[in-house]
Amino acid sequence: MLARAVASISASALSGNLSALSARAGVPLLLPVKADAYGHGLELVARVAAQHPSVWGMAVATPREAAQLAALNTGKPILLLTPPTPDEVGPLADLGVRLPVASLAEADALPAHARAHLKVDTGMNRLGARPEQAVAIGQCLAERGLLEGAYTHFASADEPDLSFAHTQLERFRGVLAQLPPLLAHASNGGGILSLGQIPGMGLARPGLVSYGFAPPHLRPVLPLTPVMTLRARITHIHTAHPGESVSYGGLWQAQRETVVATVGIGYADGYPRNATLRASVLVAGQRRPTLGRICMDQLMVDVTGLQVGLGDWVELWGPDALTVSDVAEWGGTIEYEVLTGLGARVERVRAE
Ligand SMILES: *Cc1c(COP(=O)(O)O)cnc(C)c1O
Repeated sequence: MLARAVASISASALSGNLSALSARAGVPLLLPVKADAYGHGLELVARVAAQHPSVWGMAVATPREAAQLAALNTGKPILLLTPPTPDEVGPLADLGVRLPVASLAEADALPAHARAHLKVDTGMNRLGARPEQAVAIGQCLAERGLLEGAYTHFASADEPDLSFAHTQLERFRGVLAQLPPLLAHASNGGGILSLGQIPGMGLARPGLVSYGFAPPHLRPVLPLTPVMTLRARITHIHTAHPGESVSYGGLWQAQRETVVATVGIGYADGYPRNATLRASVLVAGQRRPTLGRICMDQLMVDVTGLQVGLGDWVELWGPDALTVSDVAEWGGTIEYEVLTGLGARVERVRAE
């Protein structure tokens, strides 16, 4: 109500993607819902995931996200993917949040009711214990009865050359072989699509793919449906005469009489300003170019010859004709950044 821009989240598209990804991985999913579920809305996505038989649990990036998700009482486990600071450990353990552990000091500091996932750095070099240290940490956690899982993260499983992913997997297996049975997980979306089932793994963590996007060379592997459709309303319609310019800096000039619709979404909402002079939108089902600079709260579109009126909805991206991938390309960025950059003014609503 009263939102100028609305993101519709398709529960059936999300559900279908999750089923397909779990089948491909051969294991239940630990669904990443960090960054407001990749911009889709934490609560909307968590409610769908809570009902989905293939979702074991959900993963978040910050303690605040963990607390917000815990407050939704989905009944599914939550794993924090980044190291908590010492003062955060107690409150998170009290909420039942599973914690990553990458040192003996972190293992020792856990309270007796905590549950831990050993984080192994097999080559990403971002977080985790090196394989040669990980075994002792895992054994210490296991002795205290705190070890639920162990995981690692691929640095390039979404690229055509999988040799480094295989190297990482070997290092991870070397650690697992010296630990008691536990829930092991390695694959992100790229890993699930490119490697499929991996023996010994108990979970997989599909992020962007769950929301419907894969790198071009992996798209043929699984049919995935973009989950979000983003629309915004026309707030003004006027005619620009030949020689007149539109928007800041006069980057675009009318060559002919042009009917211009002003649309209520801009870079403050996450629509990339760098897409200026390249971006198109769907107006009444037709692709129409934006005109001039994309502004903070608005953008302008050529609607010459179309039947449009004030308050009509324009589609910025959706599952079919014009996708987040197109917008990311126009903006010189990636789907991850466009989706997670979607602003708080955009209302998220559940659709079927
Ligand atoms: C974000 C994240 C994922 C999901 O990655 P995608 O590339 O979106 O599939 C998986 N694992 C970890 C540790 C992450 O941080």
